[in-house]
Amino acid sequence: RAKKMVDKIKELMYKPEKIRNMGIVAHIDHGKTTLSDNLLAGAGMISEELAGRQLYLDFDSQEQERGITINSASVSMVHEYGGEDYLINLIDTPGHVDFGGEVTRAMRAVDGVIVVVDAVEGIMPQTETVLRQALRENVKPVLFVNKVDRLIRELEVSPEEMQKRFVKVIADVNKFIKSVKPEKYDEWKLDVTNGSVAFGSALYNWAVSVPSMKETGIGFKEVYEYLKADDSKTLAKKSPLYKVVLDMVIRHLPSPIEAQKKRIPTIWKGDINSPVGQAMLNCDPKGPVALMITKIVTDPHAGEIAVGRLFSGTLKPGTELYILDKKAKNRAQTVGLFMGPRRVEVDEIPAGNIVALVGLKDASAGSTCSTVEDMEPFESIKHFSEPVVTMAIEAKNPRDLPKLIEVLRKLAKEDPTLQVTLNEETGEHLISGMGELHLEVKVERIRRDFGLEVKTSPPIVVFRETVTGTSPVVEGKSPNKHNRFYIVVEPCPEEVIRLFKEGEVDMKMDKKERRRKLEEAGLSGEEAAGIQEYFEGNIFVDVTKGIQYLNETMELILEGFREAMQAGPIAREPVYGLKVKLVDCKLHEDAVHRGPAQVIPAVRSAIFAAMLQANPAFLEPYQKVYITVPQEMMGAVTREIQGRRGQVLEINSEGDMITVVAKAPVKEMFGFAGAIRSATSGKAIWSVEFAGFELVPQNLFEQFVMEVRQRKGLKLEFPKPEDFLG
Ligand code: GDP
Repeated sequence: RAKKMVDKIKELMYKPEKIRNMGIVAHIDHGKTTLSDNLLAGAGMISEELAGRQLYLDFDSQEQERGITINSASVSMVHEYGGEDYLINLIDTPGHVDFGGEVTRAMRAVDGVIVVVDAVEGIMPQTETVLRQALRENVKPVLFVNKVDRLIRELEVSPEEMQKRFVKVIADVNKFIKSVKPEKYDEWKLDVTNGSVAFGSALYNWAVSVPSMKETGIGFKEVYEYLKADDSKTLAKKSPLYKVVLDMVIRHLPSPIEAQKKRIPTIWKGDINSPVGQAMLNCDPKGPVALMITKIVTDPHAGEIAVGRLFSGTLKPGTELYILDKKAKNRAQTVGLFMGPRRVEVDEIPAGNIVALVGLKDASAGSTCSTVEDMEPFESIKHFSEPVVTMAIEAKNPRDLPKLIEVLRKLAKEDPTLQVTLNEETGEHLISGMGELHLEVKVERIRRDFGLEVKTSPPIVVFRETVTGTSPVVEGKSPNKHNRFYIVVEPCPEEVIRLFKEGEVDMKMDKKERRRKLEEAGLSGEEAAGIQEYFEGNIFVDVTKGIQYLNETMELILEGFREAMQAGPIAREPVYGLKVKLVDCKLHEDAVHRGPAQVIPAVRSAIFAAMLQANPAFLEPYQKVYITVPQEMMGAVTREIQGRRGQVLEINSEGDMITVVAKAPVKEMFGFAGAIRSATSGKAIWSVEFAGFELVPQNLFEQFVMEVRQRKGLKLEFPKPEDFLG
């Protein structure tokens, strides 16, 4: 039977109008994993006995324990609808906000999503976070209201009350769609009557929608009666989950042919009239290959497998691809797809499918791969979260150091939101990620999957160094004294940073257009015209006039700038929010005397000395926290938040439950999981979301600086401008 399934899939791959590439998004515990399992079982991809017991997409053992789907993998399944077979590729998307980066990448590969909402809890903050990411990528939603059995069995609601709750969930999701994607609202609005909403129970394997009611005669009234009689078995037989939900997917989510026409202009900024642009727009299997990698998974036998969405062209073993972000060329050794965790190799895969490739050793999640060397890469993926928590990690047995380095390299490749750095002062390896949980999960994976015993430090936050004032003009001299750079630093307008971060402005675009946008965002005309570089939240502008040799020296000057931004003067933390202005400079006429060893340190130390004279400050990361508890526990929750330099922003009540929305520094949130559990006897449901950087209060600044300096083995003194000027 498996062989027959492979044959069917192979056939359907060539009929893009019969393909649906989709994901499932949900707040944690709302039933995404259970739903995935039962869809696969229903489509005959795994045995029904296994479904529900074995968490199918969660093939990392630790994921099963935590009940959090961390690694997206893809699975293909076949479903018959209206007498015809369809190929459905389900890309698993992680449900926890700590892994926001992975969610965004997975969204790029799908054209539609099933939004799963627990009928009892309703739409939750995380439902909104992931749905927002989907909508921004122009991905169309349908809704599955899950756990309907709980309404009747646990809450014993009346049929009227049940319907009222459904109406509210749908209205909430619609309101959200309207707020994020007003231009699509009319087309994407969820509507019970057209069947873009289904209701049911993933655990007990049944579902209904208006179209299914017409076919089976099982309506809300019948559902209610079966559940009252405790007979979900019959319901599951008469109106099976997989049929109702997959029918909805086929009916309402677009095929790659339909979707690529609309989505390519949103997710790709290149010339739509170029050959590759046209090929992607038309999902053309004969065009050049354009592939976006969404994930690297490590297979114990085949090694690294790159999984991604093929937007145009046809891939075969032996196809040579440019990995655009690495300026490398790799050969695809094998071409395949996933049927569950089993990878099946095939002779070729055409446009519109999800592919699994062995041999792309330079690709990482987010890479664009193409047969066209100068193809415009897919817009760099926007990270809504940035790495803000770090821990030091070392092998228990020092002999395992080479293995640790290898494993860390692999993990960083699988997950670009994980940063691995070497602390040169102490020789420690540091891993940085988006939250405490994100890092814990990776460490667990090192222990289990790679069998490596490691020791870690407690988590620490990564600050950002910045300034709140303007420096005087500072002179930086090269070691040979023949070159001088005159530099001023001051805060960079937030709006300028946003433009660069979100890709609305870049160094490759039309100069006039860039200048106009930057002026509007708060730079002076002179600065906007002289912009040279954006680097991780900082800009470098050149406002000098007619300086000889400056052009040919600029690349070295920018290298000095980037080095300074990677580790600032206060405590070697990264710099953020800085505008560095070159106001004058003197350069030696002989290029030999203005090489890297002269220019880079001169620029870096001038920036450092200037920062220390411009009201230096620390920024620290904040998290937004959503905590839902029974009414009477509100006091315990607000006390817990206030004890962590936190601030309660909002309190919403619904029935006898309240949701506290608060904001607190990440530094103070370590250990929150345990504390809130004991403060509320385990009754709290909570989630967090990255909420940007804010200034560290003046009274804590010195203390935090010294903590960092001590940890890094730096002198326990606040640095002075003279320290950097020879
Ligand atoms: P995920 O975190 O979204 O992947 O959620 P899971 O699929 O792991 O489900 C979370 C919990 O809810 C598990 O204990 C499931 O057994 C349970 N669950 C899932 N679907 C249903 C349902 O339809 N009814 C009930 N009563 N429980 C469900």
